[in-house]
Amino acid sequence: SSPESPPILPPFDYEPRPYNGMSADEIFQKRKSFLGPSLFHYYQKPLNIVEGKMQYLFDDSGRRYLDAFAGIVTVSCGHCHPDIVNAVVEQTKLLQHTTTIYLHHAIVEFAEALASKMPGNLKVVYFVNSGTEANELAMMMARLYSGNLSMIALRNAYHGGSAGTIGLTALNTWKYPLPQGEIHHVVNPDPYRGVFGSDAALYAKELQDHIDYGTPGKIAGFIAETIQGVGGAVELAPGYLKLVYDIVRKAGGVCIADEVQSGFGRTGSHYWGFETQGVIPDIVTMAKGIGNGLPLGAVVTTPEIAQVMAQKIQFNTFGGNPVCSAGGLAVLKVLDKEKRQIHCADVGSHLIERLRSLQKNHEIIGDVRGQGLMVGIELVTDREKKTPAKVETGVLFEKLKDLGVLVGKGGLHGNVFRIKPPMCFTKADADFLVDALDYAISGM
Ligand code: PLP
Repeated sequence: SSPESPPILPPFDYEPRPYNGMSADEIFQKRKSFLGPSLFHYYQKPLNIVEGKMQYLFDDSGRRYLDAFAGIVTVSCGHCHPDIVNAVVEQTKLLQHTTTIYLHHAIVEFAEALASKMPGNLKVVYFVNSGTEANELAMMMARLYSGNLSMIALRNAYHGGSAGTIGLTALNTWKYPLPQGEIHHVVNPDPYRGVFGSDAALYAKELQDHIDYGTPGKIAGFIAETIQGVGGAVELAPGYLKLVYDIVRKAGGVCIADEVQSGFGRTGSHYWGFETQGVIPDIVTMAKGIGNGLPLGAVVTTPEIAQVMAQKIQFNTFGGNPVCSAGGLAVLKVLDKEKRQIHCADVGSHLIERLRSLQKNHEIIGDVRGQGLMVGIELVTDREKKTPAKVETGVLFEKLKDLGVLVGKGGLHGNVFRIKPPMCFTKADADFLVDALDYAISGM
């Protein structure tokens, strides 16, 4: 039966500060004037967010929202988590910046802690400032190490927006028309929309065909997100990465896991998304959740691959900045202390279970998927044909905001709600989100 009254946000004991700053309209006008025409914004009237506390955000009127998108999957531990704020403030007071031309304890402590979270021989860390930069460096390493040029990426992937990584990205919404070099995009092993359903072997065969027919037979590497983020929380067909990693290595390439969204326990139970597919990559790239919002990224690889970089200096001014390193180290400690992987698995399976039962009542919910707190809800106007419910998604998106829930949107057609909250999101929050979605769809 349809819910009669709108759900109420779970209680939260926090009073935001009164806000007397610039109005939303004024900020919006200035943003249009000074921040360029390529930015996009959420909501017909964009929200003016002035404060964040754990899984909640507050707008300029003091209204509280459940943040189910975490600043695009970036606030891993929670907005302004006290342990991370403290680590950053203390380091800022002592020394804000020094480059790696001098020694600083924060960078090596963080590198050691990060390496301890990696399986196999993934022990050498390079710090950068974003996911894009991490993937640029990973692609460069793959090409130098293998001595080959051809890179393979998945259709529907997002790996960054720089001149190099835009070639790896395969979503027309984000792709500028630039030369992309030797990059081949293979059929996406998407169990919901993919041409071969969940048959990993057929997708792997198609990738092999690309190598055989489209490259000299030797490749530099293969890159994939373990759950596609921007592409709409798309899981890869089970077993796909295992098959493909074998093929790629036989063709002389290295295997890169883009863990920019799926890392740090978000997928539940494991620290890294690739662990859910039982593989160990040769290079792992990470950013977003690594710093709970600090501008930070990293590439972790093996000593053998790192060795190839020794022929020249690999350096960037801010990578491993002490403030970001102190913050990143605090993130790892919080994730361990609060056992966030276990929490993500527990709350995530509750959320998915509740969404799947909601799906039984609402035809518009075509697919519910994901792992841990990396969840996608794909909306369709026709379940058989899987026609993307573009307009309806936009309407529901606004309604959810009005009810107090901020979700993300994604997928090529913009018809997937992405639920990727800070990892302190609770079962009560999950219930509120599902009830809000139920209420919003019922009122359509
Ligand atoms: N890789 C993935 C999987 C991403 O989702 C993103 C950003 O959304 C990037 C790379 C690029 O990261 P950044 O925006 O920090 O450059």
